[in-house]
Amino acid sequence: MLHVIVLFCYSLFLFVFVIICCFLFLVLLLVLFLNYIGLFFLDSKTASLSVSFAYTLPSPDLILWDYIGYCYCCCRQMLQVNQFLFLKVPLTNFRAKIQSFLEFLDMKQQGMIVESVGEGVIELAPGDHVLPVFTGECKDCSHCKSEESNMCSLLRINTDRGVMIHDGQSRFSINGKPIYHFVGTSTFSEYTVVHVGCVAKINPLAPLDKVCVLSCGISTGLGATLNVAKPTKGSSVAIFGLGAVGLAAAEGARIAGVSRIIGVDLNASRFEQAKKFGVTEFVNPKDHSKPVQEIIAEMTDGGVDRSVECTGHIDAMISAFECVHDGWGVAVLVGVPHKEAVFKTHPMNLLNERTLKGTFFGNYKPRSDLPSVVEKYMNRELELEKFITHTLPFAQINKAFDLMLKGEGLRCIITMED
Ligand SMILES: [Zn+2]
Repeated sequence: MLHVIVLFCYSLFLFVFVIICCFLFLVLLLVLFLNYIGLFFLDSKTASLSVSFAYTLPSPDLILWDYIGYCYCCCRQMLQVNQFLFLKVPLTNFRAKIQSFLEFLDMKQQGMIVESVGEGVIELAPGDHVLPVFTGECKDCSHCKSEESNMCSLLRINTDRGVMIHDGQSRFSINGKPIYHFVGTSTFSEYTVVHVGCVAKINPLAPLDKVCVLSCGISTGLGATLNVAKPTKGSSVAIFGLGAVGLAAAEGARIAGVSRIIGVDLNASRFEQAKKFGVTEFVNPKDHSKPVQEIIAEMTDGGVDRSVECTGHIDAMISAFECVHDGWGVAVLVGVPHKEAVFKTHPMNLLNERTLKGTFFGNYKPRSDLPSVVEKYMNRELELEKFITHTLPFAQINKAFDLMLKGEGLRCIITMED
């Protein structure tokens, strides 16, 4: 009887053992199969991180950025919401293999070059040079169809989304934990996946290490002047705030043939640099006891023809509006104010035929308009080199952030080269 029990237990053990082995073998086969079709990314030749797919598609699509021009306006939000992804992870030589779907496209080395596109993408082809933009243009919504708006309903900037619109999924993960996208571009990586509506196809001859700065603040300032304020040749313009966006607004005024460009800033050390951007006169509000709008009105016989506000400070916004000439003056607000800021002015300032406007990304529709801005650079009308004060390799991205936070320089280009 004892023999029978022992034999039974032994057989049962063998049976369970074989079942477990078969199960493990099947799991191994499944993992190998998934790896083969691209569902998992199990190794990377250069990565210090293992990156896995959240999703699979017929053709693996890769995107690689060589040059990144970043802005304080975007990056300060990133510092707040997505620090882990970009600053806490050792991203040197980071490579993410990414899949694509319908609206996605890929890019590869030698600049922002499309390597392949997802099914259904017809506007772009492998080899195209593109600029990624934090806000998109679907070309189908009421905003995109309006000649007056660039505030696409579908692809307007959204710092909270963090996923692809099509399926609500992230295309990055580390150890099975999703990494969320940032403002639709996630460009602090060598490869990324973006919606086709968030990239602008540009002249392939344009140097990507220069025109990459057009993806954000430089276009914002430039467009605020050229597209919204629209100063005429020989007129006067006041620029509030002489950081990169303000200097881009001054560059727009210079291109428009403005004869007087008055720079307003609390930091006098910015005045010398601003001369390179065509600023002809300077006002430091600290040097005066009267409001700056009164000083400018005295300088210009009643007010400037146009003003562009690039600080986001509410008092500067009010001054920028009140310093324009009655009858025809136009003030354009560009800077983003504190969320509780309230704009106060006497209604008579409006009734006296001053106009107050606001703009987002300089009213440029990213896909429709950025190619022509690149052409402005190519035909030497627009000077981008003077905005680029630093260039650093990706391995020194934290140094680039330090430069930005200290306010040193205007734009730092991050290259993917070691
Ligand atoms: Zn749209």
